[in-house]
Amino acid sequence: MHKLVSLAKRRGFVFPSSEIYGGLSACFDYGPLGSEMKKNIKDLWWRAMTRRHRNIVGLDASIMMNPTVWEASGHVSSFNDPMIDDRTTKRRYRADHLIENHIEKLRREGKEEQALAVQGAYEAAGTAPDPNKALYSLIIDEGIKAPDTGSGDWTDVRQFNLMFQCDMGAVADTSGTVYLRPETAQGIFVNFHNVREASRMKVPFGIAQIGKAFRNEIVKGNFIFRMVEFEQMEMQYFVKPGTQVEAFEAWREERFNWYTSSLGISPEKLHWYKHDKLAHYADLAYDIKFEFPFGIEEIEGIHSRTDFDLSQHQQFSGKNMEYVDQVTNERYTPYVVETSAGCDRLFLALLSDAYHEDVIDGEERVLLKLAPKVAPVKAAVLPLMKKGEMAEVAEKLRAELSEQFLVQYDDAASIGKRYRRQDEIGTPFCFTVDHQTIEDGTITVRYRDTAAQERINITEAAAFLASAMA
Ligand code: ATP
Repeated sequence: MHKLVSLAKRRGFVFPSSEIYGGLSACFDYGPLGSEMKKNIKDLWWRAMTRRHRNIVGLDASIMMNPTVWEASGHVSSFNDPMIDDRTTKRRYRADHLIENHIEKLRREGKEEQALAVQGAYEAAGTAPDPNKALYSLIIDEGIKAPDTGSGDWTDVRQFNLMFQCDMGAVADTSGTVYLRPETAQGIFVNFHNVREASRMKVPFGIAQIGKAFRNEIVKGNFIFRMVEFEQMEMQYFVKPGTQVEAFEAWREERFNWYTSSLGISPEKLHWYKHDKLAHYADLAYDIKFEFPFGIEEIEGIHSRTDFDLSQHQQFSGKNMEYVDQVTNERYTPYVVETSAGCDRLFLALLSDAYHEDVIDGEERVLLKLAPKVAPVKAAVLPLMKKGEMAEVAEKLRAELSEQFLVQYDDAASIGKRYRRQDEIGTPFCFTVDHQTIEDGTITVRYRDTAAQERINITEAAAFLASAMA
């Protein structure tokens, strides 16, 4: 992981936020290459989720919303995580994570019976009259220690709300309290009728959105995996009650395939996780998890959210959120199947999946095997000579390709060094302009992954890149 973090910083993918002031915990900035790659990810998602579907349209809702939205959604009362502090080290942990890790450890050690007993007590804690006390007792009874320090001088368990609050207006009283949205979904639910009417959509239809979300996470970390400010790519699909399982299964398949076929992620690094313990709004939930260097963790949640959200907004706003089928005259509150992916987590998954080290021509190199669609720079134009006709031809080629693609021009250092610089940032192709180019108008295409080379006509370069991106 440290190699990835250092490459990300050195080559301009991800920097710590406000670094010259010592940074800010769990906040990061995307550099020149990172912002390009992130944009590619978002464009690919947008294309896959909106343009390819006749019945899905986009939305860009505001981050701050009427605070009643978050009362209706249940976030004010229950978007909490149970936290526990270690008095000796002053470190803070999630009580639920401590117990879940403990259960996993018991399983790894082959203590299945004990694991089942703890699992049972953990599930019972959720419905106990005082869940915090039940979690605390479980941690003490099991002698659970902090995973990083081995210490375990625990305080009580307390609930911690993950929403960031701010004051709107000049007077800081509770009437001006607004929240930074902890998920983009609610912007979609409250706009259900606006979007449906404006786009003449009929159920089933979907609304897609990409945007920032904010969570005051108790335990932050693992680079950009868990941040307090992050970007979600969500789609809420409205269906007739009773058809949600069918829609859920179709989306499950489509979303998994997107990661493997469109983004080129190794399928063996992706895993399904079925939620047995469901959130209050869901009747079915799966996560797509990825094998990160630090463990197998969620990158996308696919949830069947029932009619919970629309019904809640109907109750809190007093506005009718039902749908009337124009053909059958049936009236119902649609059910929702959502696909909720984290852009930053996917970015990290793609980087770690792509990171390779190998030896080419007796020299060690680092390369990012990113799919051409995802790679920030699509091609590098490399003239063998810095000046003269080769440089002129190369610059003309760069200018032409730049109309459609992000390309880099590099004439500094040996050609081998220049190839390696591009390998390290995942540039799939290098176009070399050499003596033969001047004679016959061909250039060398050098492939990143194999280092193989072939010659093509310079006039074919743009079409070559376009077909690699298809
Ligand atoms: P986790 O259990 O890891 O906290 P979650 O189940 O709370 O995640 P969801 O509420 O389902 O996450 O959010 C959907 C997606 O948003 C996640 O799959 C993840 O990719 C992304 N996401 C959620 N929280 C964060 C965060 N703090 N930093 C970066 N991405 C996040």
